[in-house]
Amino acid sequence: MVDCKFNTKRIHAGYRPEEHQYASSVPIYQTAAFGLTNTDVANQIVTGQLPGRFDYSRDGNPTIQVLEERIAELEGGVGAVAVASGMSAISFTILNVADGGGRIIAPINIYGSTLDEFRNFFPTYGINFDLVDDINDLKQVEQLIKPDTKAIYVESVANPSTEIADLAALAQIAHKAGIPLIVDNTFPTPYLLRPFEHGADIVIYSSTKGINGHGNTLSGLVVDHGKFNWENGKFPQFTTEEFILGDEEKKQTASFSSKFGQKAFIKRIRMKYVRLLGSVLGPIDAYFVLLGLETIAERLDKQVASAEKIAHFLVDSPYVKRVFYSGLNPENKLVKKYLPNGVGSILSFELKGNEENIAKLIKQTQIFSYLPNIGDAKSLIVNPARTTHREVPAKIRQRTGLNPQLIRLSIGLEDVSDLIADLDQALAAAFA
Ligand SMILES: *Cc1c(COP(=O)(O)O)cnc(C)c1O
Repeated sequence: MVDCKFNTKRIHAGYRPEEHQYASSVPIYQTAAFGLTNTDVANQIVTGQLPGRFDYSRDGNPTIQVLEERIAELEGGVGAVAVASGMSAISFTILNVADGGGRIIAPINIYGSTLDEFRNFFPTYGINFDLVDDINDLKQVEQLIKPDTKAIYVESVANPSTEIADLAALAQIAHKAGIPLIVDNTFPTPYLLRPFEHGADIVIYSSTKGINGHGNTLSGLVVDHGKFNWENGKFPQFTTEEFILGDEEKKQTASFSSKFGQKAFIKRIRMKYVRLLGSVLGPIDAYFVLLGLETIAERLDKQVASAEKIAHFLVDSPYVKRVFYSGLNPENKLVKKYLPNGVGSILSFELKGNEENIAKLIKQTQIFSYLPNIGDAKSLIVNPARTTHREVPAKIRQRTGLNPQLIRLSIGLEDVSDLIADLDQALAAAFA
């Protein structure tokens, strides 16, 4: 394909209609397995020598492959893997980078399930986390790097505070130490921010959110920049020879790095974790994500404009103590550097009063739906401390401003004056 811009790629990248009966819309290959023709062809398919042919939908599927190629092109990566949820994308990435154990540096103000997994799940498998209050405290991050540190993990825009990670500075620290920078870029989506352009090595999405944009399916993506050197001695999982990669008859052996070169990381995610642990995306779900992606620019442009207006409305409200939206401060250096087209459609605010007022506010909204999701075409409202981030103990929540008075909004595509009127009446009713 000619070297197109983002808005052309989100519609066309990764799809070659001539390979699919010239169907205009990407076909949904709703099948578990694919015919192998004869034993010679079967050998070529299962050893990956016949691109375009598939054997079993846990190993690959044409609909899902279009999504994977499209997101890789949008990000500027060498490959991508689609999985059944954002949590699977995170889990497989952490397992892949720290196979056999090690340490990872991450901020404490991250998505609730991610923090729960980092604090309470991975340590039992020998993967431990150094969690910092401020990931942009570069001195502290650098000091935490130990010989067995395997990666720095961040959310580009934190959930729900919208704090922005200084990706270029963190990438520099990581690379100096011979470790990759992994970025959960769910909040901004690739339309507003492409972390590879700032030195990141691996990008993760919960494409359940803004990429899909309609709240109708769960999915996750891992994208590989293909620039990191996995042969620097810190990552034996990529250089150790594996039976499955070799050719028994020809007595040839291979490692992920020797066989796949710059695609070693993403190939290993597919062959080790998607294939062996499952958590495969369904073809219909991949289709929904592709469909949503076609309108990402128009959705985000409108949602960002509305979110900015709503943030200013909340700043002026007598019932609101604080508004958390990095886009509010035009002098914010990190906004200027990383998110010049907007911070995104999500913001949060702290309500005055007590949890009774929170309950009333949520009960009174008529357009905002009370549910734990973001990035939908519908506007959503939630109280994170009791829902999306309930796994976070109060001690940690207090350090990150995540108290029970916090409300998170995800701004949809409704008329912004209706959304403001809805908040206006609900805030008044909450304190009546
Ligand atoms: C929702 C979310 C996840 C988890 O994604 P699922 O698709 O729900 O598994 C991870 N990171 C962030 C920032 C999220 O908002």
